[in-house]
Amino acid sequence: MSECTHDCSSCGVDCPSRSAAADLHEKLNDHSTVHKVIAVVSGKGGVGKSLVTAALAVELNRRGHKTAVLDADITGPSIPKAFGIHSKAKGSDFGILPEVTKTGIELMSVNLLLQNTTDPVVWRGPVVSGTVKQFWTDVIWSDVDYMFVDMPPGTGDVPLTVFQSIPLDGIIVVASPQELVGMIVEKAVKMANLMNIPILGLIENMSYFRCPDCGKEHRIFGDSHIEEIAARYSTRVLARVPIDESLRRSVDTGTVELFVGDYFENAANIIEDELTIASIE
Ligand code: ADP
Repeated sequence: MSECTHDCSSCGVDCPSRSAAADLHEKLNDHSTVHKVIAVVSGKGGVGKSLVTAALAVELNRRGHKTAVLDADITGPSIPKAFGIHSKAKGSDFGILPEVTKTGIELMSVNLLLQNTTDPVVWRGPVVSGTVKQFWTDVIWSDVDYMFVDMPPGTGDVPLTVFQSIPLDGIIVVASPQELVGMIVEKAVKMANLMNIPILGLIENMSYFRCPDCGKEHRIFGDSHIEEIAARYSTRVLARVPIDESLRRSVDTGTVELFVGDYFENAANIIEDELTIASIE
C-alpha cells in the first residue's frame, strides 16, 4: 500500500517525484490571461455545483472583477443555460472565442460547440478530459481575474485529469446536508491535498428551507453538520445556501445575473482575501 506506484494520480506516497505532478499542467493559450482559477467540486451531480459556480462568478463580477466560467462538466453542462446563452462559440486565427454574458462574464462549455444541445455527450473519458484541456489551451480568455471551473462531479478519472491539467489556485466543495455526513468531503479534501491545491472552504447547498408564510427554518435534508466537518478537515464554511425557489428559477431560466440575494457574499469575501488579484503584476 505504501509503495510508490509511479502514478501520482492514484498513489498517495509523498515522494520526490510527486513534484512532477505540476508538469502535467497544460499551457494556457498564448493570447489568454487568467489570474486565479477556482474549481467548484461535488461528490455527485444534482447538488447545485453549477448553480454555485454561476452565482459565484456573478457575485465577483458585481464587485468589479473580470470573471469567467469554464464548464468542465462535459456530460452535464448547464452553465450556458444559467446565463441564457444559446449562441455558438466562434473561432479566430488564434483560438476559440468564449461567449460573453450580458454583464461581461466569459463562458466556455461543450454546449457552445454542439450543434444540438439536447444531444447526449457519449464520449469516452480521455475525449472528455481532452475537451476540458482544450478549453484551457485553445480558448482565448481575455484578462480574467477569477475563473470558476464547474468540475465534473465525483473523484473519478475525468475530474482527476482536470485537476492535474489546469493550474488551480483553490477548491470549493459543494454538498447537500446528507452528503456532508458521508465521505464526499473527505475524498475531495484528500484529492486536493494530493494535488497540493488549497481548499477555500465548503458550501452547504439546499441547507434548509425558510417557510415564506411563517418564516420557520425547515431542515429538509437533515440537520447541518457542516461546521464540525469543516473543523475536522481544518477548513471553513463559505456559505449555507437554502432551498430557494427564486434562486432556482433564475438559474433554470437563464437569469442568474439578475438574482438578488446575499447567500454568496461571505464566500466572495474569502475568495477576495485568499486569492488577491492586486498582488498580481
Ligand atoms: P449540479 O451542477 O450539482 O449537477 P445544478 O446546479 O445543476 O447541480 O442543480 C440541480 C438543480 O437543482 C437545478 O435545477 C438547480 O436550479 C436546483 N438547485 C440547486 N441548488 C438549489 C437551491 N439552493 N435552491 C433551489 N434549487 C436549487
